[in-house]
Amino acid sequence: MTRIAPLLERNEQFARTYTPTALGIPAQQLLIVTCLDHRVDPAIILGLQLGDAPVIRNAGGRVTQAVIDDVSYIGFLAGQLFAGQAGQGADDPLFEVAVIHHTQCGTGFLADPGFRRQAAVATGLPEAALEASAVTDPHTTIGPDVQRLLASPSLPPKISVSGHVYDIATGRLTTTHDARYP
Ligand SMILES: [Zn+2]
Repeated sequence: MTRIAPLLERNEQFARTYTPTALGIPAQQLLIVTCLDHRVDPAIILGLQLGDAPVIRNAGGRVTQAVIDDVSYIGFLAGQLFAGQAGQGADDPLFEVAVIHHTQCGTGFLADPGFRRQAAVATGLPEAALEASAVTDPHTTIGPDVQRLLASPSLPPKISVSGHVYDIATGRLTTTHDARYP
């Protein structure tokens, strides 16, 4: 018996009526980057269905090098998949990356020097990296992260980037940066 046992029962329910989705272009032509926080599940807050949008999640929903690498690869893959689709021209946009930061983020504690020092000792991560990952105010961090992705040389030119803030208190997502291309 493990903690996942009750979820295996839910999975059994799910599998009973499941229809597989073929590998192809995400139905919403969106890629979501957001926090791993269990209160910020994009499938639930945005009503995503299977096949709608790939999701990249990390602490804070930050645009790290690892995120940029994943977006670059998915952009390449989407280009390959699109190339075989009827009605798709070579210059048509591939998809939009929606970066979502949120209020009450657990990374916010890292803004406190004492907490950060303890976290560095416990995890072995550099204090500077922990400080850089903190989302104390999502309205402050979302802009630089959108910029960072747009400025990345490896970002395919047919991918646009938008920025949003999710409010844990209200359940509302607000667009702070409209989609634009590099
Ligand atoms: Zn968070």
